[in-house]
Amino acid sequence: MENFIPETETLPKQEHKKKVWSYFLKRHLMIIALSLATVATPESVNAQSEIEKPAASSLKQGALENERKKDFHLFEELVKQEKIKEKLAFLNNSFGEFLGNFFIASRISADVGVLEQLEKRQKDNDAFVNKDALYAMTLGSIVSQRFNERWKQPKISLQPVSLKNTESFSGLFPKEIEFFLNTNYPKGYISSSVASIEFIDIEIIKGNLQILGKNEGLDIYSPIPADSRSNIRIYNTREKLTKEDFIDILKHEVHHANDWQNSKLLSSAERVSMLYDVALRSIASDRFMSPYVEGIKIEELETHFKGKIDNETAKDQLLKFVHATEYWAEIAKAYFNNKQQFKKDHLKDYDVVKKWIDKMTKN
Ligand SMILES: [Zn+2]
Repeated sequence: MENFIPETETLPKQEHKKKVWSYFLKRHLMIIALSLATVATPESVNAQSEIEKPAASSLKQGALENERKKDFHLFEELVKQEKIKEKLAFLNNSFGEFLGNFFIASRISADVGVLEQLEKRQKDNDAFVNKDALYAMTLGSIVSQRFNERWKQPKISLQPVSLKNTESFSGLFPKEIEFFLNTNYPKGYISSSVASIEFIDIEIIKGNLQILGKNEGLDIYSPIPADSRSNIRIYNTREKLTKEDFIDILKHEVHHANDWQNSKLLSSAERVSMLYDVALRSIASDRFMSPYVEGIKIEELETHFKGKIDNETAKDQLLKFVHATEYWAEIAKAYFNNKQQFKKDHLKDYDVVKKWIDKMTKN
């Protein structure tokens, strides 16, 4: 996804930090705007074909039926216990169609939908297995398959994070970036969800727009189920980023790779609960006041949605969604900057960040 900022004149040194911050803000807004502009359609989300996995030939009908019933009951219990339906209703009300950007929400709703269908049909003879064709697809097999694929917590994978071209960033050694990542974050937090961090030391001008960065996370073009980690890209600016700017941007970006959408360490139930927790904090009157998040205004977002936002409710939903997304990155950044201070000053936000970081890194 390309991100643009208006071409500007070189600014005096003292303006540099402010300028970088402004680039940063615009870049994020553009990332969000572009991804929201391509809302996943139900067709594309549901394009996944439900392919029946051949069961072992020794697995008899009764065993297959019991296995699927067990999954059904576990799934039903989980949804009930974690109040997934209630949370989804709240999120749909808060974000409306913009929840579609968190397109995993569409899959989650679809999964809960088939669960509900099975709840109504669980007494039917052929709800779990088709007695005439044992391995044919049934509602029970679909529910079981989806439960196993998406509703169990994934394991941390310790794949390497590749640094691309960061050696060309003057004064910042790749080993410093590695040291920063290894000492600031729990083991597996970064490597499970980030494939690469790339520095692109170029400036591209298109018309009166400057292409600043690309950020590839999970989007509607990802395979289903998504198995790719995020690629964080940091573009240079005309005034040249300092080493501190580079790390500062990274400190925010890494948490987008670890949110309810992009994390590779959360089950579907956890994704819903995490977004729910963060959404509540992002609108609380005693929320963490990030100048960046508070500075995001609907007027700025709206310019990318001409003709698409035609009422006040939709404007409010879009702004809330963008605020929640950026709020997570900012509170997680503040948490890792100074845990004790953050706990002292913003206990409720501290608790939310700690809860989700711990969940993502517990196994
Ligand atoms: Zn951001």
